[in-house]
Amino acid sequence: MTLSPADLPAVRAALLAWFDRAGRDLPWRVGPEGGRDPYRVWVSEVLLQQTQVARGRVYFERFLTAFPTVEALAAAPVEAVLKAWEGCGYYARARNLHRAAGVIAREGMPTTHEGWRALPGVGPYTAAAVSSLAFGEARAVSDGNVRRVLARVHGERQPTEPWVQARADELLDPARPAAFNEAVMDLGAMVCTPRNPRCHECPVSAWCTAFASGEPASFPAPKVRAAVRQVRAVALLLGDEREAVLERRESTFLGGLMGLPTEVVGEGEGEGDALARLAARLGVTVAGELGTVTHTMTHRLVTLTVYGGRGGPARTPVADAALSRLDHKALGLWRARQGSLFPEV
Ligand code: SF4
Repeated sequence: MTLSPADLPAVRAALLAWFDRAGRDLPWRVGPEGGRDPYRVWVSEVLLQQTQVARGRVYFERFLTAFPTVEALAAAPVEAVLKAWEGCGYYARARNLHRAAGVIAREGMPTTHEGWRALPGVGPYTAAAVSSLAFGEARAVSDGNVRRVLARVHGERQPTEPWVQARADELLDPARPAAFNEAVMDLGAMVCTPRNPRCHECPVSAWCTAFASGEPASFPAPKVRAAVRQVRAVALLLGDEREAVLERRESTFLGGLMGLPTEVVGEGEGEGDALARLAARLGVTVAGELGTVTHTMTHRLVTLTVYGGRGGPARTPVADAALSRLDHKALGLWRARQGSLFPEV
């Protein structure tokens, strides 16, 4: 059976009854339905955009411990915000969060979708989530979970963003928009999962085209992924895992973050050329290779060969800087070397 406009009330009722029974208890769901704490909702939505909920919970608790209120976030130096964001990736989000907190501290917390959209870095998804979950506005959220659930219910293999938003808008329960949004998020996370949807536990299976097809996981069709670009680079670890030379990366990958001095190996260039360029720039002597680490970022696979060295600029405490996971892996090479038979490089 497929979904018709006449079915909408029954689908909403089934979904909300399931949510009232089985919805998740999450640390950012503080406050009543439609009146959640807006700061918590906002931080969680920004954090969870590229992070699994299990890991996101840990990051969320850490961030809220560091900055329990929007005023505390606004008053903090941006370096401290980046440090608390460490591991979450997409550091531009942390910068925008900090900038927007400054606006909120000066002008007050927006209470509408429009008001949230006007803040730096707040897109339609986050604005819909905060305005509905915290202020009860009838705005349907449309993220990856919502896209998957709606594509399956309607049997749509190629759902476009406008299509998903239109289906979400028409299905949204006008009487309980906040609960409805949380319910679809939970259904996508707990029941209508990407690979093995639990259709026999699903409150909307009676209206679901994908379920009726017998191959629910084949909806929607997989997205064509952009090719992953290979990036080779060399880095110098001058110091140790506690104190090392750190630079702010401006133009290469991980721009804006502090990290080990790094040089990208150019087209047609050997690793030795990039290393010589890096050593000359810093005025140091290369002492030996520590090893190679790899790290995948959006559409990029970085292979970083790390060398030890002597001399050069002043070392700074590593623990105070916000470092990428790539840099933590590079520092791990130093630790591994200390435990080996040949610790000197
Ligand atoms: S019936 Fe299955 S495929 Fe359809 S919405 Fe529910 S879990 Fe997803």
